[in-house]
Amino acid sequence: MKYIIVTGGVISGLGKGITTSSIAKILQARGLKVTAIKIDPYLNYDAGTMNPYQHGEVFVLEDGGEVDLDLGNYERFLDANLTFDHNITTGKIYKTVIERERKGEYLGKTVQIIPHITEEIKRRIKKIAIESNVDVVVIEVGGTVGDIESMPFLEAARELWLEEGSRNVLFVHTTLIPVLDVVGEQKTKPTQHSVKELRSLGIQPDIIIGRAKEYLNDDTRRKISLFCSVPYEAVISAPDAKSIYEVPLIFEKQGLGEYIMGKLQLWGEPPEWKEWKKFLENLYNPKDEVTIAIVGKYVHLRDSYISHRESLTHAASRLKVKINIKWIDSERIEENGTEELKGVHGILIPGGFGKRGSEGKILAAKYAREHKIPFLGICFGFQLAVVEFARSILGYEDANSTELSPATSAPVIDLLPEQRNINKLGGTMRLGAQKVIIEKGSLAYNLYRSEVIYERHRHRYEVNPDYIDELEKKGMHFSGKDESGVRMEIFEFRNHPFYIGSQFHPEFKSRPLRPSPLHLALVKYALKYKKSNGDSS
Ligand code: GLN
Repeated sequence: MKYIIVTGGVISGLGKGITTSSIAKILQARGLKVTAIKIDPYLNYDAGTMNPYQHGEVFVLEDGGEVDLDLGNYERFLDANLTFDHNITTGKIYKTVIERERKGEYLGKTVQIIPHITEEIKRRIKKIAIESNVDVVVIEVGGTVGDIESMPFLEAARELWLEEGSRNVLFVHTTLIPVLDVVGEQKTKPTQHSVKELRSLGIQPDIIIGRAKEYLNDDTRRKISLFCSVPYEAVISAPDAKSIYEVPLIFEKQGLGEYIMGKLQLWGEPPEWKEWKKFLENLYNPKDEVTIAIVGKYVHLRDSYISHRESLTHAASRLKVKINIKWIDSERIEENGTEELKGVHGILIPGGFGKRGSEGKILAAKYAREHKIPFLGICFGFQLAVVEFARSILGYEDANSTELSPATSAPVIDLLPEQRNINKLGGTMRLGAQKVIIEKGSLAYNLYRSEVIYERHRHRYEVNPDYIDELEKKGMHFSGKDESGVRMEIFEFRNHPFYIGSQFHPEFKSRPLRPSPLHLALVKYALKYKKSNGDSS
């Protein structure tokens, strides 16, 4: 088993997740079996109870794990399904160790960070390596070297290197190379300091990846090589890329793949990039363009909706169309009306929670319905479109979700029955891949081309079964349901070119070469809408 450990220095937000995904991809392109693990040194057990302003979107896996958004990047780059265990947190590690202590498994001993916590970290990493049946595991250590929180993880990584040997464990350090505007010189001092910090923990990096706007120049690479004691060819540039999906190719061009293969004594096939390059070629050569509005309350932090953005990128490549995303704060719609929606060719309302901004989303759903603009509502967006329809068409002015208005006289969206007795909020929603039955001949069937699909979920509320007949009679057609037929999964309209919603999240399963069918259709219909409106916008 080979392990590649990716650390970060100088500042956070360097795109370590993309670096990790790209390294994994380079090896996969050589026919190797690869998986990736994310370590999050925070104390939370998982990402499920954090709001998107903390670490961006909460990503949901097949098994229902609510995890860091980097796992979404790994899944998209590797076209693989990962499990909850692939996201290791301090919370998970300590919970296991403390439970073990209570059982008496350490009887007589003092339980300590070294060795007990570090043992548990290594045990988890090795377990995933074995269970995933891979040749290489790439492990991203969240945070920045020097953070108190990540110390035990770096110590565990050092021990792993000691146990497995330097032919089997490789350290990649990602750092920032700032450029001083006045002189335009690439500065290596912060990198030198962070490598020094890493060395003081007993870790000597094998490869340094320098993030800068441009490629690192020769001088910079030589300096880093000399001061950080890393071979010149192991100093790699991570310049700004037009698309994150180009990063593996940028690394490949610099010989990173061959270098890693040599260091870890791995043998693979010649790298195969044909489909990946085609994907990028399509993305970079659009024949048309459309504007899609994403209406949410976390639009100020783009990573809050990263899976939607990526799903649209996948659709963009497939359709060779440039997609301009117009981020619209739903609270602004509440204040200023739907003015900002004028001229867009499609509207997407993503998942969400809570009252703030919800009326703005309802107005956006109404605007799309009345103006026949292609519309996709996901989860909360699906639920609020039902609320809007109940208010405008069924005439229940007070209709709402009981999440937002517990006392509403028309609770068209209500708590899932099995949620009534739940009092703990962590990990208790209806989560992960669930079976959805699609009605033959419907629009949804046309898009999925299958009567049975599995899509990922994350919700506590659903369409109240008491209102289904009424909603259907007035034209909201439920074309996707769960196996029991009681739980509504997809609605569509017959008298609107494209107005569809899903209780599930198709964005979590969208992959570069296999775009989410619903996002793909939204863009297709947006193109149609644009053409039929004489490109007036
Ligand atoms: N807040 C809604 C629910 O819990 C929607 C959740 C979501 O959009 N992920 O059902």
